[in-house]
Amino acid sequence: MTLTAEPSTPESSLSKSAADEAALSKSSLSKSSLTESALLDSVPGLLYIGGEWVASESKATLTVSEPATGEVLKHIADASPTDGLRALDAAAASADEWAATAPRMRGEYLRSAFDLLQQRKDQFALLMTLEMGKPLSEAAGEVAYGSEFLRWFSEEAVRISGRYGQNPEGTGQIVVSQRPVGPSYLITPWNFPLAMATRKIAPALAAGCTVVVKPAELTPLTTLFVAKLFEEVGLPAGVLNVITTSRASDVSAPIIADPRLRKLSFTGSTSVGKVLIKQAASNVLRTSMELGGNAPFIVFGDADLDKAVEGALAAKFRNIGQACTAANRFIVHSSVAAEFGHRLTDRVNGFVIGRGTETGVTIGPLINDRAVDKADDLVQDAIARGANLLTGGHRSLRAGSFYEPTVITNVQPESTILREEIFGPVLSIVEFDNEDEAVAMANDTEYGLVSYVFTENLARGQRMIEKLDTGMMGLNVGVISNAAAPFGGVKQSGLGREGGAEGIHEYLSTKYTLIPN
Ligand code: ADP
Repeated sequence: MTLTAEPSTPESSLSKSAADEAALSKSSLSKSSLTESALLDSVPGLLYIGGEWVASESKATLTVSEPATGEVLKHIADASPTDGLRALDAAAASADEWAATAPRMRGEYLRSAFDLLQQRKDQFALLMTLEMGKPLSEAAGEVAYGSEFLRWFSEEAVRISGRYGQNPEGTGQIVVSQRPVGPSYLITPWNFPLAMATRKIAPALAAGCTVVVKPAELTPLTTLFVAKLFEEVGLPAGVLNVITTSRASDVSAPIIADPRLRKLSFTGSTSVGKVLIKQAASNVLRTSMELGGNAPFIVFGDADLDKAVEGALAAKFRNIGQACTAANRFIVHSSVAAEFGHRLTDRVNGFVIGRGTETGVTIGPLINDRAVDKADDLVQDAIARGANLLTGGHRSLRAGSFYEPTVITNVQPESTILREEIFGPVLSIVEFDNEDEAVAMANDTEYGLVSYVFTENLARGQRMIEKLDTGMMGLNVGVISNAAAPFGGVKQSGLGREGGAEGIHEYLSTKYTLIPN
């Protein structure tokens, strides 16, 4: 399929997809009969290139397994570098036509995809729980958050504007307009399989850019399921392409080196981000980088401790601690540190570890055994350097990649856990005595993604907005992500912003035209 044909309207294709939906629910996917195997069968296990579902030219496959059980979920196509370039061919071939598609129309495709995703929210939640491990209730939360990017950017597509005004000399008119930056390559991580995909796809499509998406090898199924949504709402062929691969570097490097690519957006580790920035330099690509974090969570002596405990549980244990926004260092005033630690420990002792599909489970597995080893190494290092263990502190006895939710206090300054992203259910507390000390500790990191501050003193809260070197801050709250807000960091946490009015600008370039009088 090419883009020369008039694209089917989202409305007409939505009614087609509604019929499909009815057929699907009759056969296997109605809520009542939602089974894991039927769901997995309904996820395409192929590459989505130029509007077609295709095997890898090499015929290679990769295996997706469930972290809670180690069992195989599905074998899917494993893209080669040639497949990657074919996906870029498709994105490049459809770029002009998509850029010329009316903004309202682009928005309607996104809105239709949002509506269809709502109809499939249970399927998306279960799929994420299976491939990533988070408890079902949290997966449902990610569905709500992740789908919101489709709705938000469906609305932003029609608000791309410029300006027009006289030049200071009075000799002409300055016209400023916005153009889509061009074919974009989107690389996403495994920890939020839906939200990380929609947070990039939606603004790119809204801006008029065609895309190639490469999800993480560990959790590629959700992105394939998203591609299916877009196919069903009639998105023109080639606008969205998805390649799944076990060879991230081999497949990505030729795409990034290709002069047809104009934009690279990446979410993942700072170390890989630095490699990609270097690769992007050769063609002076626009880049957006959402990288690592080392979030401070400051509890002042005047904090409402009930709020601080609730905020801490959310900021630390959501996603089993596997979020770049996860609170990494709890910096707590010495007057409340003991009580804060004990209250948290009581709550943490009530957590239920298990497979995310099981009722009542609050802590799922880590993504793999390597993650368990890393969390344990950090805990043992902190204890060896003098920290006190309040609860946890070891692997779970369950089979699978589980780590006991852990609280350690009195963590000493030289401990590795204060410098590295934990990415696990480990809460580590250090104490401070005055505000300047807390700020210095919080800023003592090369990262600058998010900070959390708990204080009932408004003036102090406002001072913290100025003094903490992070791109985002939660004031008396432990979860801040919102599709309507600009997400992103400073320092080595990244470049650019996703979401909010800012998010679409990552995919637009500014054009200035002078029209003399
Ligand atoms: P994490 O530590 O969270 O797995 P990574 O930065 O390793 O984060 O991975 C994030 C994403 O980047 C994944 O999709 C992964 O496949 C991809 N990736 C990793 N290394 C490279 C690379 N050298 N080039 C392109 N993509 C990469």
